[in-house]
Amino acid sequence: MIIGILGGGQLGRMLALAAAQMGHRTHIFCPEADNPASQVAAQATFADYTDEQALAAFAKAVDVITYEFENVPAATAAFLEKHKTVRPSWRALETAQDRIKEKTFFAEIGVGTPPWRAINSEAELRVAVADIGAPCVLKTARLGYDGKGQAKIKTPEDVTPAWAAIGGAKAKPHADGGAFAVLEGFVDFACEISVIVARGHDGQLMSFEPALNVHTNHILDTSTVPAPVDEAVLHQAVDAAEHAAEKLGVVGLLAIEFFVTTSGAVLANEMAPRPHNSGHWTMDACETDQFQQMVRAVCGLPLVDPARFADVTMKNLIGDDVNSIAADMADPHAHVHLYGKAEARRGRKMGHINRLRFPKS
Ligand code: AMP
Repeated sequence: MIIGILGGGQLGRMLALAAAQMGHRTHIFCPEADNPASQVAAQATFADYTDEQALAAFAKAVDVITYEFENVPAATAAFLEKHKTVRPSWRALETAQDRIKEKTFFAEIGVGTPPWRAINSEAELRVAVADIGAPCVLKTARLGYDGKGQAKIKTPEDVTPAWAAIGGAKAKPHADGGAFAVLEGFVDFACEISVIVARGHDGQLMSFEPALNVHTNHILDTSTVPAPVDEAVLHQAVDAAEHAAEKLGVVGLLAIEFFVTTSGAVLANEMAPRPHNSGHWTMDACETDQFQQMVRAVCGLPLVDPARFADVTMKNLIGDDVNSIAADMADPHAHVHLYGKAEARRGRKMGHINRLRFPKS
């Protein structure tokens, strides 16, 4: 098959490599000509996501369409759906693009989240801070990632600067009525975990084991499996992710990040209907990794048991980290993946290392 991929980042690159290994071709669609994914794909279209002529030609050239990041404009996916099947699902994309839609969805399906309020003005923010209580975190409802578009509020004095920091001066509700921002209670979490579930075209579910995630400066630093967390807590997270994938009609992958509280409650933070950075450990520690499983789902093939065979810690290579990998290059249990990015800018994900440990626990 020819798999069309919206987005040209490292997730698209690793998806394209997995597809090629399984005999499929990929066609990348993204605005930037110099990108990690098109270096390894059979074909690429460099055009804006609003260019309907280019989108129509792209849809014609591929058998099925998927995406490697969730901020593809909603209208783009809706336009493409008229021409070709778009997987995982339009509903999953729309929900994951907006923190308020996401939290509303979690509430609808009975999955807990931190307390939250939709915010459209500084006055609303002030009321919500009094209501939820400090500390709390203010986030733009859309387009934030890796801590961008976020501000922590520790005392009521922080309200005005926090509102300014997320661009509140220009705040207005989105065209579809969605609020500009969300205020969340700050979770004093014991740890953060994530689950990636694959769902096939026939509804078959196959989850990877939850990973323990450590963030530094809001960017994922490491993911470790097995996560040293109570089995019952891990089960709860897997059940929640599988339930969400079913309700959204996902055909492909759904990743959900959770906070685990000191009392063992599992609270959903955010989700992404695509491969996820916290699932890169699967590439070297499992018989089938997240990208292969996604290709299987998107192409209508059966999913398989991912079967982990080693303990593992995935370490992200951010910015200059990529210049200090000599020891790992000499270690047979360290698997280095680099994304082909020319410039090691600060905060940029340049690659990752999966360090395996045997025997598996
Ligand atoms: P996010 O962009 O929502 O995934 O946030 C990035 C990281 O910031 C999370 O993985 C947490 O480490 C931290 N964070 C975000 N929201 C909260 C919250 N409500 N309570 C505590 N920590 C948070």
